[in-house]
Parts: sequence; C-alpha cells; structure tokens
Amino acid sequence: MEYPGNLFVVAAPSGAGKSSLVKALRELDTGVNPSVSHTTRAPRGQEKHGREYFFVSPAEFEAMAHADAFLEWANVHGHRYGTSKRAVEERIASGTDVILEIDFQGALQVRRAFANAVLIFILPPSWEELRSRLERRGEDAPEVIELRLRNAAQEMSQTHQFDYVIINELFERALFDLKAIVHAQRLRYSAQRRARADTFAALNIP
Ligand code: 5GP
Repeated sequence: MEYPGNLFVVAAPSGAGKSSLVKALRELDTGVNPSVSHTTRAPRGQEKHGREYFFVSPAEFEAMAHADAFLEWANVHGHRYGTSKRAVEERIASGTDVILEIDFQGALQVRRAFANAVLIFILPPSWEELRSRLERRGEDAPEVIELRLRNAAQEMSQTHQFDYVIINELFERALFDLKAIVHAQRLRYSAQRRARADTFAALNIP
C-alpha cells in the first residue's frame, strides 16, 4: 500500500550524530514530523512524557506489543523502545511526512511493514572519530563506551540493508545530504503528481 506521505527512517550507531542531524533537519523543514516512541526506560533530565517519549512500564509495553500496536519494537541497551503503528499510519495516510529516529533493528522491521519507507544510515567518518565523539560526550563510563563501539561494529555491518548512507564527517555537509534525500523523495513522479495536480492537468500529463 502506497501512502501519500513519506516515511523516513534514520538509524546510526551511538555517537554518529543522528539526533543532532534530525533535530537540525526538523528546524529547517517543519514538514517532516517526528513520531514519539514508547519506551520502558526512565526519563532523563528534562525529558517529558509525551514529548521525547511515552514512558511506560514493562507491563504496559508488553500489552501494546501483544495488541499489535507497534509498527516495530526493539530492545536497545537493555530497554524496550517501540513506534506506534497507528500514529505513523494516520499521518502518512493523510500526506504528512514522518521521520523515525530509531535503532537499526527497528529500521529493518519498518521496511518489512512499509516497502516504500526510505531507510537512511548515518556513519561516522572513522573508528577514531566515533570513539572520540563518545568520549567527548562525557555521558558514558569507559566500559560503556567499549560496549557501544562493539555494538557499532555489529550495526554498521547492516549498512547494505539501507537505501542511503550519509557519512557524518562535517555536520553541515551531512545535513545537506539529509535534506537532499528528503527533497528528492518529494520530487518523485507520484509525489509531484499529487502535489501539482493542476499543473499536470494543464499540461495534459497522465
Ligand atoms: P535513548 O534512550 O538514548 O533516547 O535512545 C536509545 C536508542 O534507542 C537510540 O538509538 C534511539 O534511536 C533508539 N530508539 C528510540 N526510539 C525507538 C523506537 O521507537 N524503536 C527503536 N527500535 N529504537 C528506538
């Protein structure tokens, strides 16, 4: 089933810069809407229920999974995270573009549900740079950084399953690449046919 809205799915190993890139894209392009995921992890800092995440208990999460309410869900760093199927479907069905910022396992599940989803993988320019970004972030203990790097190797081995690859060496360049992918998607025949129906009609284009 092809919906009028685009579904962009962005995944990356921890430290590659996914969140900053998606945030910058959304500031520039208000037509790209985020989806608020459900998670069993506790809120951090200033996070608010319903804004960053819907924070739910493991039992609530389980009940939603059982009711088939998730488009995808995965266990990430010991907590469960899931994307509400209804919220995404309603929006892309009404022609709104949605962007999911999720882990790679979830991204691959989305592809199975929506063959037209646009899968984007963000890579760091090198191992050294990934390590130094994780260290500079100052959020994780050394053993957690080692774990994140091991997980990154496994995640990056799945890069071939994605449609687009962005190498985040220079932030502005990576942001340009992300914008280009979103823009190209909106120029596809089917999208232009819908968005510019009058022009197509005036030009007698089927
Ligand atoms: P954090 O707890 O730091 O906000 O997120 C940890 C990881 O979980 C990130 O890679 C984030 O993209 C991923 N994540 C967030 N929401 C979802 C979701 O709904 N599904 C999946 N599969 N991963 C998610």
